[in-house]
This record gives sequence, C-alpha cells and structure tokens, in this order.
Amino acid sequence: MDFEDIDTIAVLGAGNMGHGIAEVAALAGYEVRMRDINDEFVQDGYDNIEWSLNKLAEKDQLSQEDADAALDRVTPLVDVEEAVGDADVVIEAVPEKMEIKKDVYQEVVEYAPTEAIFATNTSSLSITELSEVTDRPEQFCGMHFFNPPVRMALVEVISGAHTSEETLDAIEQLAEAFDKSPVRVRKDSPGFIVNRILVPLMNEACWLVHDDEATIAEVDATTKFAIGLPMGALELSDQVGNDVGLHVLEYLHEVLGDAYTPCPLLEQKVEEEKLGKKSGEGFYDYEDGGVEIPRDAARDDIETRLLALLANEVGKLVENDVAPVSDIDEAVMLGGGWPDGPAKMTDTAGLETLVETLDELHDETDDPRFEASEGLRNAAEAGGFYGSDDEEAAATYDTINVETLDGHVGHIELDRPHRMNTVSTEMLDELGDAIDQLSEDDDVRAVLVTGAGDKAFSAGADVVSAASNANPLDGIELSKAGQETFGKFEECPMPVVAGIDGYTLGGGMEMATAADLRVASERSTFGQPEHNLGLLPGWGGTQRLANIVGEGRAKEIIFTADHFDAAEMADYGFVNDVVGNDELFDEALALAEKLAAGPPIAQDFTKRAMHAGRDDEDAGLAVESQAFGHLFGTEDLMEGITAFSADRDPEFEGK
Ligand code: NAD
Repeated sequence: MDFEDIDTIAVLGAGNMGHGIAEVAALAGYEVRMRDINDEFVQDGYDNIEWSLNKLAEKDQLSQEDADAALDRVTPLVDVEEAVGDADVVIEAVPEKMEIKKDVYQEVVEYAPTEAIFATNTSSLSITELSEVTDRPEQFCGMHFFNPPVRMALVEVISGAHTSEETLDAIEQLAEAFDKSPVRVRKDSPGFIVNRILVPLMNEACWLVHDDEATIAEVDATTKFAIGLPMGALELSDQVGNDVGLHVLEYLHEVLGDAYTPCPLLEQKVEEEKLGKKSGEGFYDYEDGGVEIPRDAARDDIETRLLALLANEVGKLVENDVAPVSDIDEAVMLGGGWPDGPAKMTDTAGLETLVETLDELHDETDDPRFEASEGLRNAAEAGGFYGSDDEEAAATYDTINVETLDGHVGHIELDRPHRMNTVSTEMLDELGDAIDQLSEDDDVRAVLVTGAGDKAFSAGADVVSAASNANPLDGIELSKAGQETFGKFEECPMPVVAGIDGYTLGGGMEMATAADLRVASERSTFGQPEHNLGLLPGWGGTQRLANIVGEGRAKEIIFTADHFDAAEMADYGFVNDVVGNDELFDEALALAEKLAAGPPIAQDFTKRAMHAGRDDEDAGLAVESQAFGHLFGTEDLMEGITAFSADRDPEFEGK
C-alpha cells in the first residue's frame, strides 16, 4: 500500500487512545471507521471525539464547519467486517494484552483487504510477535501515539523483524499527514525509545527512595530543578500511572534482564492501589496537598546518578542500532516534553564523569543497573554521543538558528516548530546571545527574526510548568530575563524586523513588539492571553505594546485576551505590512535588506532617540516584573494554569 492510496482508516478500540487517533485521522481528512466491542463503548468514543472537536472550534483552533466535517468522517461501528472491510490502514488500540490483541488480528485478517497495512499502538508488546499471527508480517508495524493523540506531536513508527521498508514509509507519511512528527524506531526493542528512557528513570528514582538514599522531595527536586525536566521523576510516575510504568518495566525486565528489576517500592504502590494521580494517591497524596516539590532539595549526587542512568540507556539504544542519537533526542523531547534530549543533556554533563559514576556504583553494589553499556563507553571515548567534532556546533544554539544572509541581514530563526516555537528560558538566553553576536558582526546591518515551520512565529512562553510550582521570586526573575532579552532587540544598534507567520501569542507577541518593524502573513493570529491564566504580559508587554498601538488598543488587547488577525493588527498599527502566506519570508527579507542598505549610524541614533523620548519605561518595567512575581504566588494563577491544562474556563477569585 502506497501512502498516496490511503483513504480509509479503521481504528480498533474507541477508548482513551482509539478515539483520539480516530479524531486525528478524521481531522486530516481521512474516512474513519472506529470499532469497539459494543454500542455503548463505541458511542462513548464518538461522543469524546465530538466534545474534543467542539472544544478546538471554541478555542478558534479550527472552524466549526471543519469540526463538523471531521465528525462526519467518523463512522462508529461494532461489526468487524464493516469496520475493516474497505480499510487501507488498520490502527489497533485495544487493551494492552497480548492475547486480546492476537485474537483481534486473527479476526481482522479474515475481512481486511490483502493490501491493507496493520499498525499497532501497543506501548510495550512485541511488534514482531503480533505480526506473526497475521498473514502479512511485512505489512505490519508499530504506530505508537502519545496521550492525548490530538495534542502530542510524537508518533514512534516501529519496525518489527519482518516489516518492509514500504510499510514504514507509508506509515511515516501517514503520521505526517496527521500533522504529527514521526520518529522511526528501527528495531522492535522493548519500550521503543521514549518509554525506554523514561521508565528506567522512574525506576531509579524509586530505588533511591526505597534504599533510603534520598527522599521523594530530593529526587523530584533534582529531576525538575537541577536536570530541568518538566516534572519530578516520581511525579511523572504518578502522572503516567504507577501500574502502567510497572507494566512496561516488567516487560523490560523479562526481555532485557535484571538491570530492569522493578523496584519493590513501585510494586508496593501498585499492590496498595496507590496508582498515582488517577487513584488519588501514589508517591503524592492528591486528595491532601498534591505535588509540592521544594526547589532547594535538589542534590548534585542524585543529579549525576540519574544522568548516568540516562546516558546508559541512550548508549544501549545506540549500541543496538534502535535509533540514531538525534532521533532519540527528538523523540524524548516530543514525547516527554523535555527541553533537551537525553543524549544532549548527558553530553553536556560529560560522559566520562557519568561512566565513572556508573563504574563506582557498580563496584560498590554489583548491581546490573549500573553496568555501563558499550555504547556509552564508546561515546565517552569519542567525546560525546554527538562526538567531539560536533560539540562546538551543538554548543552554539539549540533553540534558534543564526545565519548571515546575503544583503547584510542577520537571520534568527526560532527553531522549536514542534512546540510552536514557544520561548523557553534557554531560548531567551540564546536570543540575547544571538543579538549580541549579530550586533558585533560588521557584516550585519539589519536583523530578521522568523519562526520555523508554518504554524507559529511563536505561540508564547514555555513557562507554564515552571510557573505552576514557582514562588514570587522566580516570577520576578523570569520576567526580568524576558524583559532583558527583548530589551536587547531595542538596544541593538540596527533595525530588527519580525517576519511573522502563524500564531504570535503571549511572550511571542512581546518579542515581535520589541522588534522595530513587523511584517505578517495573512493567516497570522495575535494575542496577549496572559489574563486568561491570571498573569500579565511580563516580558515588556505592559510597556512596549502601548508605545506602538497606543494605550487604548494595548488595553483592549491585554484585557480581552482575544485573538486578533493580521488585518486587524495592521489597522491597529502593530503590523507594518500584511502579505500573502507564501510570500512572508521573501517579503520580510526584502524589507530587512532594504533597511540593511540604510545609514547605520543614523539608524542607531534614531532608535536611541525614539526610545529615549518615551516616558520612563524603565520604571514601568520594574513595576511589571514585581507585579509578575506577585502573580506567581496567587491562587488565581494556579487556577488559570489548571484550567488551561484541563481545557476549561478559569474561575478567578482574586486571591
Ligand atoms: P482503553 O482501555 O482506554 O481502550 C481500549 C478499548 O478497546 C476499550 O474501549 C475496549 O472496549 C476496546 N476493545 C477491547 N477489545 C476490543 C476488540 N476486540 N475490538 C475493538 N475494541 C476492543 O485503553 P487505551 O489507553 O486506549 O490503550 C489502548 C492501546 O494503546 C494499548 O495497547 C496501550 O498500551 C496503548 N497506548 C496507551 C497509551 C495511554 O497513555 N493510555 C499511550 C500510548 C499507547
């Protein structure tokens, strides 16, 4: 089956994952037959799709017409023959039990067209073993979505031992057509990539607590604040479900041996039905206090130990040719929401030190968990997973690309397209450095800032997770960091042009505001949604926006927290020029080139004079950062963030 010939998708199972996958396929324009074992289950799945589509429409991420059309493309069914009889691809998302899945495939082969591809969404079972119960093991692969499929960009496309190249190509292209980012997993290796990295990390966190080597607070503070992951390792285990983590671990243990022995504390949690968030209690008690992670509990020795374990897993994946290093990093960033991949992180920490740590732990304990893999040892000798040659290049910028184009234009591209180019604290640092670098480069006379991909210039700040656990001092610091970086756009002696295509929201809009001129594509959408979260625009937005559109319009934009299209923003004087979607880059570059040909000294002084003539912006910025910090301590912010994550309207109480 070629990708071009795929029109109809059968999704088996209308549960958590099945209904989400069906929705994603329907949104991409495919005819979808969704099957479950009885009317009630399949109707529940259908209702969930309807709810989710309407939610997307409400939030303007989709027109109501498109939402209705997508729903029309989904047919809920109980009859297997009707479900798969004319399917080009069958995506199976039935319960994670080998026997159930095998029964399903045995039934499906009777009715599915011979050329149809079978793709399983299994998280841990052997793709090869499943493929062997069908009549077409070469047309069988893994297509592992993440929860919830509508929001998570990653799809691991996994080769079984018999899968053909054509099948993998077709499913990868299908994942792309679903607007997802596929990462190929070359071997049917337990846990594939993301779970293989995350689950042993959670297990090690448990061992540290079980062996009384650290407290829960110390382990989670280290993972979250020292390593910089989106949440603590035990918090993550609670979130995923301790039973789900244990299940994957047991499989790793069975296939890969004692290095993956489940920690008795994890087993105990599951036995006591402390499954995590979903059961109300796990490592944390969600009915009494929930997750609280004290920032100052992080410990260097735990950090090194966890990083060593991570590096070891990466080493094993590389050694077994499961995926190249860059794919491992991409998968974990997309699937786990990590700011950096594990290979990059552990390279930065220094693989030699991490190997030493493992060797010491292994000498002390003789535990196979600490046996350093060949893949890791080889990488340490080569100077890193990315090799010492690449180290310099990799060390330059991770979140942006910087290049000098013809015509004396320094181009900064925000390069986190899979996260809508949201601004992380790392990106703030890198942007500041890039502006400094370009300012010092005699060959550069104007700066152009654009966003990678065609979805967003930048959809905002990637700090919701930081804010959810932070105190006022963190808020002030974060606000000042953004103010300072965007201040550099203003202080930069040359003109800065923002070339805007797609979503430009929150911190992304504040970045565009700090540019001197803005060119936007017709489809661009603007907004300062901070009030929806119980926050305020803290990266200069309360000051700089009014300088451009006037206080009245600035208040309208910030207080309504609405979205505005490019034409409206041009009317407001925010956007200097609106151009066709396909012409954005060329037009923005042409403007930057034109400015680059202008008189540098006059331009520098003009910027300085105009900025000096404003009212006391510094005082305003100081109030802004203090206020932002104050908001970090409020219940309203927690409510805003919780509501945002749960896709509901916030109920603010002014507390
Ligand atoms: P779920 O229990 O929510 O849904 C499974 C559905 O399959 C149920 O509605 C069940 O009635 C239905 N079902 C059972 N037998 C069936 C059959 N013969 N034909 C059709 N439907 C049948 O489970 P889930 O969380 O959606 O998981 C499904 C698969 O996706 C599993 O393999 C799981 O490992 C994998 N997965 C889950 C997640 C996750 O976070 N939940 C993430 C990635 C992958």
